[in-house]
Amino acid sequence: MKDFTLEMYRTLLRFLLKSGYSICSVDDYLSGRNSSENIVILRHDIDRRIHKAIDFSQVEHDLNVRSTYYFRHPYTFQPAVIQKIQSQGHEIGYHYEVMSKADGDPVYAKELFSHEIDDFRRYVPVKTVCMHGAPLSFTFRTPPKKSRIISTPLYKSLNIYLRT
Ligand SMILES: [Zn+2]
Repeated sequence: MKDFTLEMYRTLLRFLLKSGYSICSVDDYLSGRNSSENIVILRHDIDRRIHKAIDFSQVEHDLNVRSTYYFRHPYTFQPAVIQKIQSQGHEIGYHYEVMSKADGDPVYAKELFSHEIDDFRRYVPVKTVCMHGAPLSFTFRTPPKKSRIISTPLYKSLNIYLRT
């Protein structure tokens, strides 16, 4: 039986904690802040249904668990929700899909990446990113919109960990 309820998620987290696992965010792990022997690196890719993320973050907060929430731009980029989740102690990351948005153009993709991550950083610190993938992009992609090119520096230091 599949059970994807919040109560089952709470039960799973309690079981992991009781079993001796240390649960942490991606940044906590990569920065070495968590050096436990048994670690669960917990991340959520918020592709849609952004308000479900609030429910999950509350369950984790209740159990003193810190995880990473990766948000897409602009699909789940809602600063009020992102700030609420961050205020509960969770890490916020950027769930990028710039190569499909740029129709494979790496120069345009870098510009988009820089612009979108800057949007996140107007509200919260972002130290890690992960790829969304956009598996349907080759089926439904549209021609690149040259008018949307953003004039941010191409090779600006992003000061992030890249982990996909
Ligand atoms: Zn995704």
